[in-house]
Amino acid sequence: MPATPPAESGHDPLPPLRVGHGYDLHRLDLIAPAGPGRPLIVGGIRLEHDRGPVAHSDGDALLHAVTDAVLGSLSLPDIGELFPDTDPAHESGDSARFLAEAVRLASERGYAPSNLDATVILERPRLKAHKAEIRANLARLLGLSVDRVNVKGKTHERVDAVGEGRAIEVHAVVVMARCSRAEGGGP
Ligand code: MG
Repeated sequence: MPATPPAESGHDPLPPLRVGHGYDLHRLDLIAPAGPGRPLIVGGIRLEHDRGPVAHSDGDALLHAVTDAVLGSLSLPDIGELFPDTDPAHESGDSARFLAEAVRLASERGYAPSNLDATVILERPRLKAHKAEIRANLARLLGLSVDRVNVKGKTHERVDAVGEGRAIEVHAVVVMARCSRAEGGGP
C-alpha cells in the first residue's frame, strides 16, 4: 500500500480548495417614511416591496452572507469585525464593496472563488422573477461565470419571523480555489 504523501495529511499550507460558509438575517420593516426599513436589495438587485431591511449598511443579506463565506474560507475576521456598524463610513453603504474587499483579501492569500451556492429565505416577494439578475450580478462580483453561481429562493412556510415576512435569512457556501495570485497582487 503506497504511503500517504505529507500534502494529504491536512498540513498543506495552501490546499487546492477551501470551503466557506456564511449566514445572515435582517429584520424587515416598513420602508421609510412609514418605518425604519431601507429599500429591499438582495444580491445587489432592488426588489419592489413595502418592507426592507433595518440595517446600518444597505442591508443586503445575500451579499453579507456571501462576504462572510469568502472571509470564512480563509479564516479571516468576519464582516462585522472588518466593517463595524459603528463606522459611519459604512452607513447606507453598497454592500458590494464588502464583498469586493473580501475577494481582494482572499486573492492576496492565493485564493479565488470557484463556485457559490446560496439559499435566500424570503416570504415575500418571491425571488423567482429576480433570480437570473441576482445570479448574474453575483457572478460579476465574484469574477465567475454564471454557471458557477447558484441562488435558491425559499419561503419559510409562513412560520416564525421569516415566514411572517418580518425577516430575510440567507445561507451561503463558497468554494475557493488556489490561484496564481498568491504574491500579494490584486486581481
Ligand atoms: Mg447583514
